[in-house]
Amino acid sequence: MAISVWEQSTYFAQKDLVIVGCGFVGLWTAYEAIQKNPKLNITILERGVIPSGASTRNAGFSCFGSVSELMYDVQLMGEEAMLETVKMRYDGLQRIQDVFKAKEIDYNQWGGYELFEGAKKEAYDISKLDDHITYLNKILAPVLKTPKKNGKYLPIYTNASKEINKLGFQGIEALAYNKLEGQLNSAKLVLALQKAVQGKGVQILFSTEVKKFKSHAKGVTITTNLDAPIETKQMLVCTNGFAKLLIPTLDVVPARGQVFVTEPIPNLKFKGCYHFDEGYYYFRNLGNRLLLGGARNADFKNEKTYSLDTSKTIQQVLEEFMMQRILPKGSKKPKIELRWSGTMGMGKIKKPIIEKVQPNVYCAVRMSGMGVAIAPIVAQKAINLMKLK
Ligand SMILES: Cc1cc2nc3c(=O)[nH]c(=O)nc-3n(C[C@H](O)[C@H](O)[C@H](O)COP(=O)(O)OP(=O)(O)OC[C@H]3O[C@@H](n4cnc5c(N)ncnc54)[C@H](O)[C@@H]3O)c2cc1C
Repeated sequence: MAISVWEQSTYFAQKDLVIVGCGFVGLWTAYEAIQKNPKLNITILERGVIPSGASTRNAGFSCFGSVSELMYDVQLMGEEAMLETVKMRYDGLQRIQDVFKAKEIDYNQWGGYELFEGAKKEAYDISKLDDHITYLNKILAPVLKTPKKNGKYLPIYTNASKEINKLGFQGIEALAYNKLEGQLNSAKLVLALQKAVQGKGVQILFSTEVKKFKSHAKGVTITTNLDAPIETKQMLVCTNGFAKLLIPTLDVVPARGQVFVTEPIPNLKFKGCYHFDEGYYYFRNLGNRLLLGGARNADFKNEKTYSLDTSKTIQQVLEEFMMQRILPKGSKKPKIELRWSGTMGMGKIKKPIIEKVQPNVYCAVRMSGMGVAIAPIVAQKAINLMKLK
C-alpha cells in the first residue's frame, strides 16, 4: 500500500522523538517529555495490538525491595548503587501517586511482607533479620526521605513475626513488614498514561514493529512493518526484555515471569503484597482471590525466553508453594482461573541502562523486575540525557 500525501505529512512526517515500546518506560517518557514541552511531536511505536511485554502482565506490586533482596543487592553491587536504585524506585512510586488518583489505578497501600522459612532451609539466615532491619532503616530513611514523626524517621521495615499464625501461613518462621508498599492494577495505570499522553497529542501506533533503524546526521530513519519509513530527530528504545533484538550489544537478557490467579477463596486471611526467597516468589490478594507468581529460579535456563506461554514446571512449583506455604494446612485446593506470563529484562546488575547507543539513538531498558516503580524516574533521566527541550 503506497502512502498518501496526507499520511506523508502527518503519520510519516519527521518527529521530534520516536519511542519504541508502549510499556511503562515508553509511556512515562512521553508523559514527562510533554509536560516539559507540550509542543514536542512524539510518536510511540508498539509492536503489539496492546502493549505486549511486562507492563500489563505483572503482579502490580508498588514495592521498592524486601529485606533479603536489598541485603543481596548490597553484596552484588555495593551499598551506594543499591541506595541509588532503591531511591529511583521509591521516588517513582511517589510520582505515580502524585499524577494519578488511587481510584483510577486501584491503588491500595496495604503494606508488604517478606516471609522466611528459617535458617536451615534457605540462603537467608533469619538470626540476622533484626540487624538487617536496623541497618536498612538507618541507611534508607534519610536517602528516601520517608515519613517522620516528632522529627524522627519512622521505621520502614519492622519484624512482624508474631503475625504469622494470624495470616495462616505454613512453615514460615519469620516475617518482615514494610508499611510503605502498595498494590495497583497495572493495566489501568498503562491505560491512564495512554489517555494522558494521547490527550496531549502523542501519537501511539500499535501493531507497528521496529525492524531496524539507521542513525544519520539529521536524526534516525526507522524501518517498521508499515509501508514507509518513519523519520525522527531522536529515538528512544524502551523495549526492556526485548532490547537485545534491536541493540545486540546491551547486557539485557529476557526473563519470563509466570503468574496465576485463583478463584475467590472464602476467608482469605491476608491482604497486601508478599515476597519470598529474595523476591523470586511473590503473591498478593486481588479482592479475595490469590495472585501468585515467580519461581523463575526453579528453572532458570528455560525461563530465559521471549515466549509468553506458561510452563508446566513453573506452574506446578507455584501450585505446590500455594498449598504448602500460603494457604492454611488442610485447605481445599482452589481452582486456577487464569495463568499468564510476561517478559522482564535482567542483566548482571539490577541498575537500569539509560544511555546513548549511537548518534540520536538512546535506550532506557533493563528494569530488573521493578519497572512499575522505577519507570517514572528512568523516564526523567532519559529525557535529561536526550536534552529534550
Ligand atoms: C510476571 C511479572 C511480574 C512483575 N511484577 C512486578 C511488580 O509487582 N512490580 C514491579 O515494579 N514490576 C514488576 N514486574 C516488572 C515490570 O512489569 C517491568 O519492569 C515493566 O513493566 C517494564 O516496563 P518497560 O516499559 O520497560 O517494558 P515492557 O512493559 O516490556 O514494554 C516494552 C514494550 O516494547 C514492545 N516492543 C518490543 N520490541 C519491539 C519492537 N521491535 N518494536 C515495537 N515495539 C516493541 C513490547 O511489545 C512491549 O510492549 C513484573 C514483571 C512480570 C513479567
